[in-house]
Amino acid sequence: MNQRTIQAAIAVTGIGLHSGEPVHLAFYPQPTDTGIVFERSDLIGSAPVPADAFLVQDTLMSSNLVLDDVRIGTVEHLLSAIAGLGIDNLLIRVSSAEIPIMDGSAAPFVDILLDAGICEQEKAKKFLKVVRPVRVKIDDKWAELRPYDGFELNFEIDFDHPAFDKEQQHAQFSLSSQNFIEGLCSARTFGFVKDIEMMRQNNLARGGSMENAIVIDDMQVLNAEGLRFVDEFVRHKILDALGDLYLIGHPILGRFNAYKSGHALNNLLVREVLSDENNFEIVTFDDNVTAPIDYLRVNDVIV
Ligand SMILES: [Zn+2]
Repeated sequence: MNQRTIQAAIAVTGIGLHSGEPVHLAFYPQPTDTGIVFERSDLIGSAPVPADAFLVQDTLMSSNLVLDDVRIGTVEHLLSAIAGLGIDNLLIRVSSAEIPIMDGSAAPFVDILLDAGICEQEKAKKFLKVVRPVRVKIDDKWAELRPYDGFELNFEIDFDHPAFDKEQQHAQFSLSSQNFIEGLCSARTFGFVKDIEMMRQNNLARGGSMENAIVIDDMQVLNAEGLRFVDEFVRHKILDALGDLYLIGHPILGRFNAYKSGHALNNLLVREVLSDENNFEIVTFDDNVTAPIDYLRVNDVIV
C-alpha cells in the first residue's frame, strides 16, 4: 500500500467560525514523505506549519497549531477528512488564522479532496502501529490507544440533557474510507445557545450559526432540519478524534477508546504515545489487500 496525495491543486472558500470573515483554502499535491503541511497565504514568507501534535497549543474549543507567530486554528475537521481518505502528503494554504467551518462537519472537505482526485505515489505508506496500551486521564475523562489490527474508535459521551438521547451516547466506528464517507464525515459540531452567547461577548463565534452547527437550547435541538444521525453528537466526537489523532503523523493501527474526551485529552494521548518509542512501531504493507485499512481505490468514482 502506497502513500497518497491529490492529483491536482484545488481551492474552496468558507467563513471563519470565530472571525465571521471569508477564508480561502487551497490544496496542493506534495511529494512522498512530506506529510500534511499548512501555510498562511496572508502572511507572505511565513514558515510552513506541519500537522504535528507537539505544535498544538490551546485546545479549548478546537485544535490549533502554533509555530512561532504563525497560527493555524481549527484543523480537526479538515484533518479528519484527510485521515478518512488516507491522504499522506498535502499542502494546505489558508488565508487566515482559522480553517473555515464550512457546514460544521468534514463532508465539504471530503467533497473538495475527491474533486481534486486522489493518486498513489511511488513509496510505501507508513502506519503507526500501537504495540502496547497507552492511557491518559483528566478528572473523570479518559482516552486510550490499544493494539488492534485496523483502526477502531469507541467513544462515549455523557450529557444529562433532554436533547441527548441516553441510548445514543456511545458509538463505535471502524475506519475505512467508505465507512468514513457514509457514516461519519457529515456529523456536525454542536453548541449550546448559552455558550454561544458567552463566546459572542468575547468576540468569538461571530460566524457561528445553524448553517454550521447543531444549536441546542435548554430543551432541544433548534435546527429546523433536525439531526443527520440519531447519534450525530457522539459521531462528531469520533470525527474530531480521528482528526486530532492524525497529528500523530501517520495513520494509526490501534483501537481508540474514550470517555468524554476532547481536543486536549486527544492531544495528550498522542504526545504520550510518541513519548516512548516502545509504544509503537512504524509498519508498511506490500499491497492494498494485506493492509488492514481499506481506503478508496484511486480509480473509485464516488457519486
Ligand atoms: Zn468538531
